[in-house]
Amino acid sequence: MVIVLFGAPGVGKGTQAEILAEKLGIAHLSTGAAFRSAIQRATPIGLVAKEYVERGGLVPDDVVAKVVEEALAGSDFERGCILDGFPRTRAQAEALETMLQQLGRSIDRVVNIDVDDATIVARLLQRGRSDDREDVIQHRLDVYNAETAPLLDFYGSHGILVSVHGVGSVDEVNQRILDVLRS
Ligand code: AMP
Repeated sequence: MVIVLFGAPGVGKGTQAEILAEKLGIAHLSTGAAFRSAIQRATPIGLVAKEYVERGGLVPDDVVAKVVEEALAGSDFERGCILDGFPRTRAQAEALETMLQQLGRSIDRVVNIDVDDATIVARLLQRGRSDDREDVIQHRLDVYNAETAPLLDFYGSHGILVSVHGVGSVDEVNQRILDVLRS
């Protein structure tokens, strides 16, 4: 099973992806976490990603694709995976289709977690990651609206998009996601 968890920064993709991966027994790939780890280890990819992540911009598509391609080739991805924070652009969505096609797979569901902007900003300010400063948060939301949100139409037209209301407890939202995955 290949699931994409979709939504603006701060809607809870990371938290939900972790729980779902555990419950469904599949791998979890967070491109954001992969970049944070690469930045911390100062790997070549980390050195490139650093300036984009710090400013809340998007890491270039070719760099992102490299990270995803490597992860998908890993043996723990054979049973399926939850993609969290990828794809974020139309080019990434197309690259993903090609990669999955080569593995004989396709996306089963794109789950959009829907949360209003005011709640998102409040949540991110509370989380306090280094890219959770107010100016950077606003930029990340603008980038999401300009580059990433249009993918909702793309996946909607493929008939694999489902949406869940993302305000509530972690357990409530998780149950909503499991319900839409079973439907
Ligand atoms: P996240 O942990 O998903 O909030 O991602 C944190 C940061 O990593 C983002 O603000 C981007 O700078 C970068 N990033 C993560 N995933 C992607 C992606 N698919 N494309 C481009 N940049 C990304």
